[in-house]
Amino acid sequence: MQTIDQDREMDYFHEKCKEYNLNITPQRITIYKELLQARNHPSVDVLFKQVRQILPNISFDTVNRTLITFSEIGIIDVVEGYGNPKRFDPDTKRHHHFWCTKCNKIIDIYHEAWDDLEVPADFGHEISSVHNKKVVLEGVCESCK
Ligand SMILES: [Zn+2]
Ligand SMILES: [Zn+2]
Repeated sequence: MQTIDQDREMDYFHEKCKEYNLNITPQRITIYKELLQARNHPSVDVLFKQVRQILPNISFDTVNRTLITFSEIGIIDVVEGYGNPKRFDPDTKRHHHFWCTKCNKIIDIYHEAWDDLEVPADFGHEISSVHNKKVVLEGVCESCK
């Protein structure tokens, strides 16, 4: 598993906020940092509980809106295809997911061989772009086995 370079991620965060004229408030920094540290693709609910331990007065709505803003400017990704509620991913670089259907954990997989999956040669339709080229595995994780 890759570890994250938090300083580099924070630099990226500052750059992006500047680019989109987003004020860098203590709330936004805390929410981003907590998401970075969580590494389990938390939902708003899960993240809200974590952030509230640091900022007791923050509202659910603020956390929710902040995450949506972050995903709109591309600092984080919304994890698609795991039903409700929405899950968030601080890693916007190419990677793949393993989803544990027992504990609902989403584990990152970094595997270059999967990064450039080719569309079958006999695919008759014209493709202009490919979205979410992400391999998603489902199963039971090590701790649930
Ligand atoms: Zn599990
Ligand atoms: Zn991920």
